[in-house]
Amino acid sequence: MPFTVASIDPEKTRAARFLAGDPKQLLIDGRWVSAAAGATFGTSDPASGRGLALVARAGREDVDAAVTAARRALNHGPWAGITPAEKGRLLWRIADAIEDHADELAELETLDQGKVYATARFGEIPAAAAQFRYYSGMANQLHGTTIPTSITRQGPAKRIFAYTTREPVGVVAAIVPWNSPLLMAAMKLAPALAAGCTVILKPAENTPLTALRLGELLVGVGVPAGVVNILTGYGTEVGSALSTHRDVDKIAFTGSTAVGKQLISDARGNLKRLTLELGGKSPAIILPDANLEIAVPGVASGIFDNGGQVCVAGSRIYAHRDIYQEVVEGLADRAAALTLGHGLDPDSDMGPMVSRGQAERVHSFITQGRSDGVEVITGGAIEGCQGTFYRPTVLTGADPGSRLMREEIFGPVAVVTPYDSLDEVLAWANDSEYGLAASLWTESLSNAHRLAADLNAGTVWINCHSYFSPELPKGGHKESGWGYENGAPGLENYLESKTVCAVI
Ligand code: NAD
Repeated sequence: MPFTVASIDPEKTRAARFLAGDPKQLLIDGRWVSAAAGATFGTSDPASGRGLALVARAGREDVDAAVTAARRALNHGPWAGITPAEKGRLLWRIADAIEDHADELAELETLDQGKVYATARFGEIPAAAAQFRYYSGMANQLHGTTIPTSITRQGPAKRIFAYTTREPVGVVAAIVPWNSPLLMAAMKLAPALAAGCTVILKPAENTPLTALRLGELLVGVGVPAGVVNILTGYGTEVGSALSTHRDVDKIAFTGSTAVGKQLISDARGNLKRLTLELGGKSPAIILPDANLEIAVPGVASGIFDNGGQVCVAGSRIYAHRDIYQEVVEGLADRAAALTLGHGLDPDSDMGPMVSRGQAERVHSFITQGRSDGVEVITGGAIEGCQGTFYRPTVLTGADPGSRLMREEIFGPVAVVTPYDSLDEVLAWANDSEYGLAASLWTESLSNAHRLAADLNAGTVWINCHSYFSPELPKGGHKESGWGYENGAPGLENYLESKTVCAVI
């Protein structure tokens, strides 16, 4: 059956006003400016291939200007003197602005990234606002401690008074990926601003638009000039110029492990602080006593939501042999029932991959798997005349050492493997360079918590998958990253400590 995508006219969406002002400019020092070299690049709707906007393509000169503005705002002007309570109120107003514009931001995200509208409108955009609300309450909770010391050099007539203070780490380069663009930006901006840092945000080249619209909202609610600067462009140009810049104090990065490793060497010039939220190859383990009415839909949404373009996607599914066949059939039925289509079409369950290149990359795993003897239970095909849609896919019979089982696919591809014992499945689940997340599906409290303790993963979900909240720290073990976002640890990333020791 030919696959057609409903025609969506961006000019008839709530994003039309924003899209009309073309080309989109950079936000530097509170002003919208073209790239110094005058360069632009295009961003398009991956479902239709239709161009959405031309966007400024920042280079080294723009990075210099943004870093200078961020440094100035850090040290002088209203931001340097803002009280903790004012900072908290400002973050709260940012959350209000995001919520007030949630419909528009969700449509813009869907047009630029491809995700279904409901995911953006009821998941990611509210979650972005929630980041600012959560950290607004922490803006006035930053304090050090007074510390009794054992020093006696001052002699008996004097005493020691020692204390610590918390300071912003400084100028932060926030570099984010394309899978959940606004949410990823918010996860860096909110704690960075609560800590008092200034930021240069670099969205991914595939999905620059919601970051730019957020920039307008930030200016509108009164974020002072230079506190948040937004540079659109390519990773190897503007991203690299930021990560090697000697006046950037910290890189907050979310993206692939390959680029994360590159940043480690790029950051060493001035020993930048570095947090890395990287890739994953997360296992979902279904025990024989699991309630399959919960587990099968839960595991399916853990791999198929957002077209599998989720860092924590549960792509390695291990089902106990007693229930293996039922799980394979249940997942295949769910995959086959998903309707592909434009993210703004209310009938769509899954939008396109972010680009044709991403769809082809996903397909390369299937092609290789087929030649290695993997069985394609359902899916395994690119769809649509743009070549960007990928059929939700269920595979069995993959070798534990194969690319399918070891590399991040970042697409809607579930690989199901039977197991016989808990020891066996634990060893397989942990046999990965990654350690981002895992889910367990069981009615047994003790098995759940024993496995949770032994899994090498930054997050373990029990009878759920991909549950996030600003309160819950999130980060990767092994090659899935350095450091944690969310919660109190998420704020620590943006703070330095200073010890003051006085003879009084
Ligand atoms: P990517 O690493 O290709 O790009 C991420 C960002 O880095 C983009 O803005 C890109 O322009 C920039 N970049 C690329 N090369 C750079 C360089 N040399 N110097 C500086 N910046 C550079 O990742 P992607 O393809 O955009 O996103 C998908 C990846 O992100 C997946 O691996 C996914 O697992 C990961 N991810 C991780 C998390 C997490 O929380 N752990 C969340 C979302 C996505």
